[in-house]
Amino acid sequence: MSLQLKKLVKTYPEFRLELDFSMKPGELLTLLGPSGCGKTTSLRLIAGFIEADSGHITMGERCLDSLPPYKREIGIVFQDYALFPNLNVQQNIAFGPRMRGWSAFEIRKRVQSLLELVHLRGYEQRKVTELSGGEQQRVALARALAPQPQLLLLDEPLSALDAKMRKTLRGEIRRIQQELGITTLYITHDQEEALALSDRIAVMRKGRIEQMGTPQQVYATPGNVFVAQFIGQANLIPGTISHWKAGFAFVETSLGVLKAPRPEGIKPCSPVLLFFRPGHCLIPPQQDNDRYNRIHGQVAGVEYLGEYRQIHLTADTLSLVFNMNLEDSGSLKVGDRIEFGIEVERCRILGQA
Ligand code: ATP
Repeated sequence: MSLQLKKLVKTYPEFRLELDFSMKPGELLTLLGPSGCGKTTSLRLIAGFIEADSGHITMGERCLDSLPPYKREIGIVFQDYALFPNLNVQQNIAFGPRMRGWSAFEIRKRVQSLLELVHLRGYEQRKVTELSGGEQQRVALARALAPQPQLLLLDEPLSALDAKMRKTLRGEIRRIQQELGITTLYITHDQEEALALSDRIAVMRKGRIEQMGTPQQVYATPGNVFVAQFIGQANLIPGTISHWKAGFAFVETSLGVLKAPRPEGIKPCSPVLLFFRPGHCLIPPQQDNDRYNRIHGQVAGVEYLGEYRQIHLTADTLSLVFNMNLEDSGSLKVGDRIEFGIEVERCRILGQA
């Protein structure tokens, strides 16, 4: 089922939220942003727990504006599971269908198929208070899905779990979501989770969506400095565009003239930031001068991160970070002088905020 938010506005004395976007049927869209940017408020508006000042919410052909939460056909999973502690696993999952008057036979069938789906077969009679966090969240997911909602909302569902369980369960959530083909809005402040799970990500800041796109788009081609820095590590070199040539912009910086694909909407002579990711750097070959921006600097720190090393470099007055494979970085130490290459095609020019 599709979801449309049209010019939706909610204001509090110190905060204004504005939303205008659509979701395709079966899509998993993540609202990603720092604490206080309006993620939970967005979810509460869609679920019908709070009322918008203006704008409309439509699901498929149905306008949800004046419907109470229980009539919206939306399943919700909360960060703290919010299971009924006095009910066992089966009773928790059966709760929604029972309230909707399903027959005992239908309920039993539904509970069984959901327990299979979330890999909790045999847990029917278990007390939810005696389950691990990961198991409780599986029950919460099954309970949200039980009445066959048209839309699933997940509000930071993994944040109470340890790192390993988070990874396992996020894979499970994605599998289940795709198996059911259910349109899903996922909320998190964890960029890795958003990149791993989503069809599209909406990066939010101060009540607005700053950029919306596939994980690859928001990671590799952030639209502004906030998005660049919020989704992963970003190197940003200040400079001024001196001229364009053959689809490339030439940026004068304190590290020399650096190149990047010509951006749209930025005029020559404007102050800009040349952006690239730490993972988009390498030891450049001697030839192929046109393909790489070359940066010289002094190693200020070396961090071993298991799969690779992260090199902190001081270049002029700038601090930059580069990821290097273990083989090439094995003998690097603080104080060494080194040259890095960044593929020109991987660089982006961002306006200075
Ligand atoms: P977090 O990740 O910390 O949960 P969030 O992105 O979900 O943050 P919201 O909970 O949606 O953010 O809050 C957005 C802003 O709206 C905050 O500044 C918050 O103080 C404000 N806010 C939320 N509810 C109310 C309310 N009932 N009255 C006044 N202000 C509110």
